[in-house]
Amino acid sequence: MIAMKDIYKTYPNGVTALNGVSVQIDQGEFVYIVGPSGAGKSTFIKLIFREEKPSSGSIIINDTNLAEIKEKMVPYLRREIGVVFQDFRLLPKLTVYENIAFALEVINESPRNIRKRVMEVLEIVGLKNKARFRPDELSGGEQQRVSIARAIVNQPKIVIADEPTGNLDPETSLEIMKTFESINERGTTIIMATHSKEIVNRFKRRVIAIEDGIIARDQQRGEYGYEV
Ligand code: ADP
Repeated sequence: MIAMKDIYKTYPNGVTALNGVSVQIDQGEFVYIVGPSGAGKSTFIKLIFREEKPSSGSIIINDTNLAEIKEKMVPYLRREIGVVFQDFRLLPKLTVYENIAFALEVINESPRNIRKRVMEVLEIVGLKNKARFRPDELSGGEQQRVSIARAIVNQPKIVIADEPTGNLDPETSLEIMKTFESINERGTTIIMATHSKEIVNRFKRRVIAIEDGIIARDQQRGEYGYEV
């Protein structure tokens, strides 16, 4: 569960990105974050995995109050949250397998568990046959599926995706959406910032629209709601 209360965020340059946001997202929900450029979507998302801290207000993630956690506990929080970016952010010299295993090696998982988990997530994203490939030998959609596999290998309760289909063609974007849907069906919360009208209107889910740093709209099975 994610609960934000009265969140304000002003960056050091004086720009106020969030101007009083309160919202609750329950475990297992699938939520789109939509809105114009510069509205505060990325800031909203970064607050959840503590890439940024709020200027004021409280954020509770799965019983943890982010205002109260010590810096040394931040890596533990991040394990509860998988993150997927528009530009994939894979390590180019490592194979698909190694890119995913890396997330488990850094937390000292046993080699046996690492192998088991990596093969499980490759199965989920449909890339078992590409385990030995390097990122530049894969299509954009396949690279994004590797990054999704990496995001879920720690079995996080929440997956956050910032414009995950932003670099992909419409057909590949649909494949990626199906991957997110199957992860959501396993009970993982998905929070996805997107500019894709096509996706939001086709895979109907909760829509939270952020405009000028506030929540302008919050609808179950909502529409994208902007002209593109
Ligand atoms: P969106 O994701 O909706 O495009 P952002 O959250 O990235 O919006 O940005 C909201 C506002 O905050 C914008 O005016 C942007 O320029 C500003 N902003 C974002 N990140 C920073 C930062 N690190 N430092 C200063 N201003 C920022």
